[in-house]
Amino acid sequence: MTETQYFLLPGPTQVPPSVLRAGSAPMVNHRGPEFKVIFQNMIESLKQIFRTKNEIITLTCSGTGGMEASIVNFINPGDKVIVASIGNFGRRYRDLAQTFGAEVDFIEAPWGSAIDPEEIKKRLDADSRKEIKAIIFQHNETSTGVYNPLEAIAAACDGHPALRIVDSVSGMASAPLATDEWGLDVVVAASQKAFMSPPGLAFIAVSEQAWQVQAKNTNRKFYFDLDNARKFALLGQTPFTPAIATAYAVAQALKIMLEKGLDNIIADHFRRRDIVRQGIEALGLRCVADPGCASPAVTAIYTPKGIAPPQIVKPLREKYNAVVAGGMGDIKDESFRIGHLGYINDLDLIAVLAALEMVLLELGLDITLGSGVAAAQKHLMKSSK
Ligand SMILES: *Cc1c(COP(=O)(O)O)cnc(C)c1O
Repeated sequence: MTETQYFLLPGPTQVPPSVLRAGSAPMVNHRGPEFKVIFQNMIESLKQIFRTKNEIITLTCSGTGGMEASIVNFINPGDKVIVASIGNFGRRYRDLAQTFGAEVDFIEAPWGSAIDPEEIKKRLDADSRKEIKAIIFQHNETSTGVYNPLEAIAAACDGHPALRIVDSVSGMASAPLATDEWGLDVVVAASQKAFMSPPGLAFIAVSEQAWQVQAKNTNRKFYFDLDNARKFALLGQTPFTPAIATAYAVAQALKIMLEKGLDNIIADHFRRRDIVRQGIEALGLRCVADPGCASPAVTAIYTPKGIAPPQIVKPLREKYNAVVAGGMGDIKDESFRIGHLGYINDLDLIAVLAALEMVLLELGLDITLGSGVAAAQKHLMKSSK
């Protein structure tokens, strides 16, 4: 039998016991009354987390499926769009938009930085004929551990009719987001990140303006036709068989989340971010993200000079049962990542720092055992309730 792992990936994340149990309930008819109740309650609870009155469509797929749905339903071939990227998942949105024929104006911040809202405003101001149909950006970038100033980016779009399409897969319920207040038209999230549930469902909030755009959309789609999904959602159903077990799990996770309160959940994510960062910096390692935009969901860390990510990630898992993620994209060969979103015990963070110290010492680095742990403990004591 495998020992319990210290599981600190930026998705999938740990699942609380009651959520695991909820997901193991017997199957029901997905067109019957039991599923309808669970499904409709899930969506009403999701609206509180998304801070929206807009409809939320549920798709059975990973987060990328949700991203694809946000392109094929709202972008026409030939449409001009801006994709503002801050890392690997931003590039995925560029690739998706191009795959479905969009003409992409691609902006990318240096990896480790957030988008400068002025950059967006300049481009939209220059578009006097209002040809830009959508501006696509990220809430939180999981490759670099950076979160965007979403409210300021949304404000920079004010006065321009372009749809605001947001990848909030790792940002939802870990960093602040207010769909309606910030005028976000299409917001994508998924079950396996801060929703502390198994993978299987993507959620996509759609504004009235976005539905109007969707009605005229000419892109080809079948499984991801959101208008079709909307019609079924009115009946408490999905067009195709949903991930029933994941829906049960998410419904239970949302119950826990709403009991705790969204503001408390988000504050907790920032607190855990600081515990990790204090520990990492005390060890003399460098975080990828600038301090002002460091993600509450995940911390990407540069490996020490001459050390490749697997030299750290592999012994962490094999010797100490601590699971962290490797690097991605441009910094794949020089970084690793500690996820701290969803269902995390503070002491899991201390444990992974302790294991990291041992691995670094074994690699021959000049490390004082306990130094990172002590810095993290100090922050934990200062910040815990
Ligand atoms: C996890 C993630 C996704 C979706 O990835 P899937 O593997 O398709 O679920 C999209 N964007 C961001 C920022 C993510 O962290």
